[in-house]
Amino acid sequence: MEEKRYAVAIDGPSGAGKSTMARRIANDLGFVYVDTGAIYRTVGYYIHLCGIGPRDIHQITRLIDDINITITYPEDGIQHMILNGQDITQEIRTPLMSDYASKISAFPVVRSFLLDMQRDMARRHNVVMDGRDIGTVVLPQADVKIFLTASSEVRAHRRFLELQERGETVTYEKVLADLQQRDTQDSSRAIAPLRAAKDAVTVDSTQLDLEQTVAAIRKIIREKLGL
Ligand code: C5P
Repeated sequence: MEEKRYAVAIDGPSGAGKSTMARRIANDLGFVYVDTGAIYRTVGYYIHLCGIGPRDIHQITRLIDDINITITYPEDGIQHMILNGQDITQEIRTPLMSDYASKISAFPVVRSFLLDMQRDMARRHNVVMDGRDIGTVVLPQADVKIFLTASSEVRAHRRFLELQERGETVTYEKVLADLQQRDTQDSSRAIAPLRAAKDAVTVDSTQLDLEQTVAAIRKIIREKLGL
């Protein structure tokens, strides 16, 4: 008989703190953390590398099968993205790649290309998976579903500080405008739009700091999994 695998799905808009939370929770539980946004970013990176625009569905459809993505977890505990043999973990973390990922992820051909990869991770490991459609589409049977959100101003402020720390020259206004544009793109697309699953528990972190948010999510997981 196959061993029972556990899955925790954490969905929500950009900058809500999903990846920080998911990494902490995965560490606590000894589960594998899967950052699905990084997978979409990797596809976007490849499309950009080929000189193709993020709305060019014909070229994207033509190129998609040339993309070979591997996820590795070396000693540093960070999820590394390997694109056709090259580690591009750092390269995908730019505002341009955020925009590419958001645009190319609206195409069904891209989403179905990545669906099996995500489900396969959950078949092979206990996972904490973060994204936009994990609880609704990728893992509708997940044991715990959390929808993590915060006001767009608070999310933009957090993202702004993060980018500043990395030495990027951006303004808060630009970060807020980009984030709101991505929210609109992610929520209004026809396929797998960003929304809470019916059985998800919503955590609004607008008024919470990091530790309070972790505590709120741990409590939900303890109650659901009995851990
Ligand atoms: O989470 P992150 O900001 O890295 O995701 C980048 C983009 O990838 C999102 O704006 C979203 O459009 C897309 N995405 C998605 N489905 C997921 C994860 C990310 O459509 N499960």
